[in-house]
Amino acid sequence: MTSSKGRGYQFEESLLFELSREGRTGYSFPERSGAKRTPSSNLLRKAHARLPELSEPEVIRHFTRLSQWNFSIDTNFYPLGSCTMKYNPRVNEEVARYTGFAHVHPYQPEETVQGCLQLMAELELYLAEIAGMDAVTLQPAAGAHGELTGIFLIRALLGARGNPRKKILIPDSAHGTNPATSSMANYEIVPVRTGKEGRVPTSVIEQAMTEDVAAIMITNPNTLGLFEADIRKIAEIVHAKGGLVYGDGANMNALMGKARPGDLGVDVLQYNLHKTFTTPHGGGGPGSGPVAVKKELEPYLPTPRTVLKDGIYRLESNRPQSIGRVKAFYGNFGMLVRAYTYIREMGPQGLKRATELAVLNANYVCARLKDAYHLPFESGQMHEVVFSDKKQKEKGVTTMDVAKRLMDYGFAPPTIYFPLVVFGSIMIEPTETESKETIDRFCDAMISIAKEAQDDPDLLHKAPHNTKMRRLDEAKAARELKLRFNFS
Ligand SMILES: *Cc1c(COP(=O)(O)O)cnc(C)c1O
Repeated sequence: MTSSKGRGYQFEESLLFELSREGRTGYSFPERSGAKRTPSSNLLRKAHARLPELSEPEVIRHFTRLSQWNFSIDTNFYPLGSCTMKYNPRVNEEVARYTGFAHVHPYQPEETVQGCLQLMAELELYLAEIAGMDAVTLQPAAGAHGELTGIFLIRALLGARGNPRKKILIPDSAHGTNPATSSMANYEIVPVRTGKEGRVPTSVIEQAMTEDVAAIMITNPNTLGLFEADIRKIAEIVHAKGGLVYGDGANMNALMGKARPGDLGVDVLQYNLHKTFTTPHGGGGPGSGPVAVKKELEPYLPTPRTVLKDGIYRLESNRPQSIGRVKAFYGNFGMLVRAYTYIREMGPQGLKRATELAVLNANYVCARLKDAYHLPFESGQMHEVVFSDKKQKEKGVTTMDVAKRLMDYGFAPPTIYFPLVVFGSIMIEPTETESKETIDRFCDAMISIAKEAQDDPDLLHKAPHNTKMRRLDEAKAARELKLRFNFS
């Protein structure tokens, strides 16, 4: 068995267990001198642990080759709608590695980490300013975690007013984390149907909003990439009945520098620093989901809070109305450093320009692809655009086929089959960091795939053709997991 079957530099990869040779090791230290300590025998394994035995270069090559199978934002265009796969600037990484940030311990005395605390305090100010809110917590570890924190804050405020209420209104175009959050916080979900224009109809909110409703969770621009132009009116209706407006801020990359949710009636909003503020996503690092609130919710924010007293930053925990901690220490600090760096690097004008370019790029994709693909809602895209497979379906070609075929052209497939309100949706978010040439190459590929769907549907059914793995049986892959290597 060889470790590297393949053409040229295209390696196949065996499991470490298959590469293993008995007795081979990855280290060579001298025998230790002095007395040996033997652990008591009841702590020792009865049988030999069947771990792979390899040399260090074999292990390094194995994992390096596997890492090269990854498709990432550093490899090519990654237009995953809703996820905002912007480029992660390297200056963020440089600053996050400064020893004063990278090597501090969360239990160090406050006097010795003043710079870190200052960075957190200033980042809170920037995020409050960008959203038009009064206070921010940096603790939540991701968007969904920020949502949960925000709903806990709403529950605490309404509870203090005498009744936490029972229901939360959620538009049917919402991200799945919105209903998940609400039900985790013990609220009943009242779905709100998207109107014909792809927006939340105020008439529906007027009907649904009762004194039993704690809040509406609303995403703006929504997941169809459309601005909820009636947001002010919706907020008025909700506020008039004593409810609060939760803004899902995952799409803040379409607003920052241009409009502030706080000015539009939003009371609580989570940011996704790994989307809007260029910190890495998923496998690239942990997320961060700061929550910004209006003044009346500030007393309930998680502790500790960073406060400046007599010229010294302190972590304050004595806040009796706080919902308590939602995360160990102070949040994913490394991500805070990256977001801070990005905001300082861009400045107010730069952030505004980023928003403009994100919206321009999405509209450009929309304009180039709307003859080739069905556009269910056409009324002023923001930062992303949602198509469907309606035209391709006539030839039996689906969104899944288009997504798989895009891999043959070297692109990451966009988000598919979300949002659920569009049947067979293809959700494209180019972000502001892509050049016109890249976006054109992508649009050319999409147009060429639409043509293939007419001429040769079977080619698409069998795609991808040029990838290491061909199309998988996804149901089988999910149902029949192969988690163990068979030693015999
Ligand atoms: C990404 C996203 C979320 C969830 O954020 P995570 O950081 O992935 O937990 C919530 N709502 C919308 C609209 C999103 O796009």
